[in-house]
Amino acid sequence: MKDSDKVVYYCPQCDLDVETRVENKKEVYSVRGEDILTDCAVRICNVCNTPLFDEILDEGTLKKVYDLYREKHNMLSSEEICEVREKYGLSQRGMASLLNWSPTTIARYETGALPDSAHMATLLMVRDNKEFARQLYERAKDKMGRLDRDRLEAALAGAAPSKSVDLGYVLSKRYKDLDSLYLGYAEFTPEKISNLILYFSQAHPRLSKTKLMKLLFYTDFNHFKNHGYSLSGMPYQHLPYGPVPYNHGLLLDYLVENDIVSLVPFESFDGEYFVPRFEPDLSGFDEEELATLRKVAEHFRPFNAKEISDLSHEEEAYVATGDRELISYKFAESLRDF
Ligand SMILES: [Zn+2]
Repeated sequence: MKDSDKVVYYCPQCDLDVETRVENKKEVYSVRGEDILTDCAVRICNVCNTPLFDEILDEGTLKKVYDLYREKHNMLSSEEICEVREKYGLSQRGMASLLNWSPTTIARYETGALPDSAHMATLLMVRDNKEFARQLYERAKDKMGRLDRDRLEAALAGAAPSKSVDLGYVLSKRYKDLDSLYLGYAEFTPEKISNLILYFSQAHPRLSKTKLMKLLFYTDFNHFKNHGYSLSGMPYQHLPYGPVPYNHGLLLDYLVENDIVSLVPFESFDGEYFVPRFEPDLSGFDEEELATLRKVAEHFRPFNAKEISDLSHEEEAYVATGDRELISYKFAESLRDF
């Protein structure tokens, strides 16, 4: 159940859990000293009729208010800001390096925060002026990861944005719409998952697809168990052969199309294994995340695909979910320790 479906909320006025309703109202909000009138949905206490804080409704209203403000001032929307970045094939981290802003700033702008006017002017310049982007790149390239550099160079050279970049985008979009309990309260980025997979395919030569899927599952659920959030922000699904990343076919296509890994058939033609095409760039992982990666890589080194698969079938995360069901990260709690 989503939070927005809950009808019982705590009312500070009544100091009780109360039944609530949602009403549509017109309200005036002030954005940078300017009044913006908007329709909005407000949660109301049924006992005392006080408006209550509702994270989802209130966030929706703010986004609407900002969108109206942007429209009025010809500013880019959060989606358009995202498109500027994708036009150059960059990850959020890569875009941050290019502009010399923090990755958090980019993420905030892409999820609805209003850029200040200097930042907005820069974004418009980058969008409309390739030469400007090229100059920024010359200054920033030493700070950028390999994947970002390659894609940006291709974009600057005039190559059409590749299909592969779109796949990463499609994947992120699909994941973004899911409840955060299935994402482990972390943001999925194509860049991070690419480096995660490059790491494992380097740490385990001739890594099979089956084993990789399980390594990712154990990495995310173990990290969630110990730190309260998943490492990759990826959702997992209960399939007959174990827990696997949701839309894993798309994920594999993305990796191969982008030439991040290649898939090579085993001599027996019984499945394929990963060959990394780059060194992983681990600069986007913090110390705790790196510790989880090392631990998972070490622990499962002796396991073959069948052994790690069998193990994953015994986890509550798998036993307690049905065929094709998404697996909630709440099951991380009962994950066996290693
Ligand atoms: Zn009340």
